[in-house]
Amino acid sequence: MTTATIPDVRDLRATVAGAVFAPGDADWDAARQAWNLAVDQQPAAVAYCADEDDVASVVRLAREAGLRVAPQGTGHNAGPLGSLEHTVLLRTSSMRGVEVNPVRRRARVRAGDLWQDVVGPVGAHGLTALSGSSPDVGVVGYSLGGGISWLARRHGLQANNILAVELITSEGELVRADRDREPDLFWALRGGGGNFGVVTALEFALHPIAEAHAGALVWDWEEAGPVLRRWAEWCETAPDEITTSARILQMPPAPEVPEPLRGRQIVMIDGAYTGDRGGADAALAGLRELRPELDMFATMPTAALVQLHGDPEEPTPAASDHSMIGVLPDDAVDAFVAAAGPGSGSLLMMAELRQLGGALARVPAEHGALPTLDAAFALFGLGLAADPESEAAVRADAARLVAAMTPWANGRTYLNFAEDAVDTTSAYGEDAYARLGRIRAQVDPQGVFHANHPV
Ligand SMILES: Cc1cc2nc3c(=O)[nH]c(=O)nc-3n(C[C@H](O)[C@H](O)[C@H](O)COP(=O)(O)OP(=O)(O)OC[C@H]3O[C@@H](n4cnc5c(N)ncnc54)[C@H](O)[C@@H]3O)c2cc1C
Repeated sequence: MTTATIPDVRDLRATVAGAVFAPGDADWDAARQAWNLAVDQQPAAVAYCADEDDVASVVRLAREAGLRVAPQGTGHNAGPLGSLEHTVLLRTSSMRGVEVNPVRRRARVRAGDLWQDVVGPVGAHGLTALSGSSPDVGVVGYSLGGGISWLARRHGLQANNILAVELITSEGELVRADRDREPDLFWALRGGGGNFGVVTALEFALHPIAEAHAGALVWDWEEAGPVLRRWAEWCETAPDEITTSARILQMPPAPEVPEPLRGRQIVMIDGAYTGDRGGADAALAGLRELRPELDMFATMPTAALVQLHGDPEEPTPAASDHSMIGVLPDDAVDAFVAAAGPGSGSLLMMAELRQLGGALARVPAEHGALPTLDAAFALFGLGLAADPESEAAVRADAARLVAAMTPWANGRTYLNFAEDAVDTTSAYGEDAYARLGRIRAQVDPQGVFHANHPV
């Protein structure tokens, strides 16, 4: 391996239509910035590709120069990448364009599209895509890593709703992978992440669901124990039509936070039910018995679900930790509340348990490397990390939360929620991991691609 030299960058600039940046350039700091502002990316060069030809050129030139290539849409999951010293950061954010085929109920996006680009055009046809909880997450990174949506317990992972992938291989060739072409590669891409090439376009299934009954129930965090115990019990029999998340939130006193929640410490259960209104009321009755202070459930277009969770929509400095939880008995809830609730001293802005199960636990007829998520809940603790001191403190509190839940964790990992490097074997079945490794060795024998979560 060599570091990128000036001639390498000149070659890139001469060949690539999009903008190319090297250390020392005036816009270098902006060009190398990830969505997670706490991550300091220092690649050999950054190339903002304009199209598929640019991607192929970057891959070929980087490989010839002995460099690696890290495809990146937004940098929401930049944390695990580690050193980028011998790596060209290939940014896809300029490659945009959503096409919807309402008859075949499928959408096609380009490498840089965000969920906020997709939900409107899809919703206009009374359809829904399995988007995540954040409008500015990239469709490709989310989908290749799995993708838990508000419809996940009904329709499974977004990865298994992928119908076709176009990508530039390590040889710089454009390949289409689907059920009939490149079936091994197609299998690997559905859950195996960015290890196999630079995805230039993705096609996926849409669902004929125009509306959802969705919203949030809110209590003061002093109620966290009884509320979360009831929620854990409720989850055991909840229908697949509903997917929820339960969070202890320490809301900042910021103007963008709505007045009743601004600066408050609360427990919130939010989620979405797809089905008729009566079914939604029946499903929520057990939670409403706990008399929430606020009940914000309402009928809304499924396109609005992407903003339900109130995730930050601008680049944010954050640190987090994660584990997968197999069971959630009362003492597990108590441990969760003790680590992140009243009296904990925790700096975490959010301690979250996402409800899994339903279709996420059943092997679908068509699937890739990640057929299911093998856990009842995904645990995620996150706080703001504006400077190294607050980052260290938040990391310690996130680790404390994960450690407190260890007795109920099952040793698995959901890689989209892992924002630091992890042992990636914990995300897959043993056979699936071995097959991913074999496919990687075939399609990228030189290890050109530098993914956030390598296999
Ligand atoms: C605020 C927030 C909310 C979230 N909500 C959810 C949620 O509801 N459900 C859920 O499942 N996840 C969620 N996530 C996790 C999210 O799915 C991951 O962070 C995902 O990796 C983001 O994809 P990205 O493309 O935006 O990020 P990036 O950091 O740009 O990409 C992550 C990785 O994906 C691969 N990749 C990206 N683009 C390409 C490409 N064109 N070709 C090949 N590989 C590529 C690369 O390996 C890259 O390192 C959330 C994350 C955040 C920060």
